[in-house]
Amino acid sequence: MTDASKLYAELITSIGEDINRDGLQKTPERAAKAFSFLTQGYQQSLEDIVNGAVFDSSNDEMVVVKDIEFYSLCEHHMLPFVGKAHVAYLPQGKVLGLSKIARITDMYARRLQIQENMTKQIADAIQAVTGAVGVGVVLEAQHFCMMMRGVQKQHSSTVTSMMLGEFRENSRTRQEFLQLIK
Ligand SMILES: [Zn+2]
Repeated sequence: MTDASKLYAELITSIGEDINRDGLQKTPERAAKAFSFLTQGYQQSLEDIVNGAVFDSSNDEMVVVKDIEFYSLCEHHMLPFVGKAHVAYLPQGKVLGLSKIARITDMYARRLQIQENMTKQIADAIQAVTGAVGVGVVLEAQHFCMMMRGVQKQHSSTVTSMMLGEFRENSRTRQEFLQLIK
């Protein structure tokens, strides 16, 4: 048994369950494996994820990747929050492989997070990797800690945004982005 699966066994026992009953025998190992997958972002770095996929380009028009689904865990309750990320940047000489934007989103999602910080981390990463004139990131998510417990609101969603450079300073750029992700 790994450390994490021992801890899951204790946790299950602590709620009064019988760890030896048929359905639960392998649960600690399965749960530990799932938890390790859901937090694998800690084992990844921006450099590894990007892996050289930054290319010279004369394109200076806005690049938008929208509706990137993500699954994260809130750092306050370790319950899921799930939603979509919309990411845009204005290149100046360099573009990033499109799938990398989704991978960067996943790397930050698969850590213990709050949505506000995750939004900023994605924006800062895109900025650092591309040297873009501006970056815009909008995240919309539903938080299970609000749905299953606490205020028990099933239909509210939380929207966070981070605008850097031109997206912060130029309202037309920002509007174009917000229009494109509607
Ligand atoms: Zn929470």
